[in-house]
Amino acid sequence: MYARGEVTPLADCPFCRIVRKEAPAEVLYEDDRVVAFRDRSPQAPVHYLVVPRKHIPSLADTNGVDKDLLGHTMMVVNKVAGMTGISEKGFRLVVNCKRQGGQTVSHLHLHVLGGRQMTWPPG
Ligand code: 5GP
Ligand code: ZN
Repeated sequence: MYARGEVTPLADCPFCRIVRKEAPAEVLYEDDRVVAFRDRSPQAPVHYLVVPRKHIPSLADTNGVDKDLLGHTMMVVNKVAGMTGISEKGFRLVVNCKRQGGQTVSHLHLHVLGGRQMTWPPG
């Protein structure tokens, strides 16, 4: 069970394993707070995930303590968009939250999709 302020990585969480470098990933950017890596099942020519190192299960599990971390995560979205060449034409940012939001990995992550025209509404 997740406790507020929990920072211990979970042994069975795939993104904690990537953060700890126990599982491979094509990392595009990392710093002391976040890691950005390519999605293993890309849904667009450019599709990467920006993941806080801290194990937060979903956006709905965040609170004021994480405000700076969430802001930093958004800034890294932008930084990596520039690195991957999708800033000028644009991109889509998606955060699936819990079961009805379509979240399958319970470690907060931001999807960034670009390199093709996006459509609306999403499925
Ligand atoms: P969600 O459905 O939770 O919003 O998105 C999870 C995403 O993580 C999916 O797009 C899936 O392809 C990606 N994913 C799941 N496991 C791994 C992994 O081990 N490595 C990488 N690179 N991507 C993963
Ligand atoms: Zn995790």
